Amino acid sequence: MSMRPKVAFFDFASCEGCQLQIANLEDELLDVLSLIEPVNFREVMTERSDDYAVAFIEGACTRPHDEERLKEIRSHAAILVAYGACAHLGGVNCMKNFFDQDQVRAYVYGDKAAWFDTYPARPISAVVKVDAVIPGCPVDKNEVLATVKALLMGKTPRLPDYPVCVECKLAENVCVFEKGLTCLGPVTRAGCGAVCPSFGNKCLGCRGLVDNPNLNAHKGLLQERGLTVDQLLNSFRMFDGYLEVAK
Ligand code: SF4
Ligand code: SF4
Ligand code: SF4
Repeated sequence: MSMRPKVAFFDFASCEGCQLQIANLEDELLDVLSLIEPVNFREVMTERSDDYAVAFIEGACTRPHDEERLKEIRSHAAILVAYGACAHLGGVNCMKNFFDQDQVRAYVYGDKAAWFDTYPARPISAVVKVDAVIPGCPVDKNEVLATVKALLMGKTPRLPDYPVCVECKLAENVCVFEKGLTCLGPVTRAGCGAVCPSFGNKCLGCRGLVDNPNLNAHKGLLQERGLTVDQLLNSFRMFDGYLEVAK
């Protein structure tokens, strides 16, 4: 009998890009499979089982009946992991929360809108207890490996508690504020290696807010550069809109 912990992957509203990161592990995949036993993973296997210890949830809740399914999964899992920005923050799904929900539904489904229920999107922590988070859009495969390793050792996975700017400075990037762009790096949790600013783009906050973000200093930085808070909020709504609507 296998002593490997049984692990299940589930998707809610998402693009499934985070699950693909597991399939993309390539060099490490066989090692990972020697340590865990996947029992549910729609993208790579057809078997299904309700017998699992760890559930990785990808995607946000966007319909009332998603909550029922999520609670059922929670009841089977000793450990539940919010996997990727959609599950962790609500992510891009929450952009619809800034609009009238009936209008959104009609825009997407046209004259079949009544067939599809919907409600403001939310992260899974708004519905069930979450034991660990792997942030990012998509998740970083090294962070996935580190989280799996920590969970197998019975430890709580740790995330960096400093902002993206720290990694950006270490990478010796030219700050995008110098180009007149806004950037959420000062208030966003590090761990991605400041990948977006490293390629000349602004950080859009896909990893969520760092602990104790210094929002006033961030606003001061905008004022110094002649930029507005509205410009910043537009970026914030890409991944972190749930926080803005929920507060
Ligand atoms: S976090 Fe990004 S990559 Fe992952 S499922 Fe959501 S949209 Fe896709
Ligand atoms: S580009 Fe963004 S992440 Fe990099 S230093 Fe400037 S504000 Fe911070
Ligand atoms: S730089 Fe910002 S938006 Fe880009 S991956 Fe990192 S946290 Fe996400």
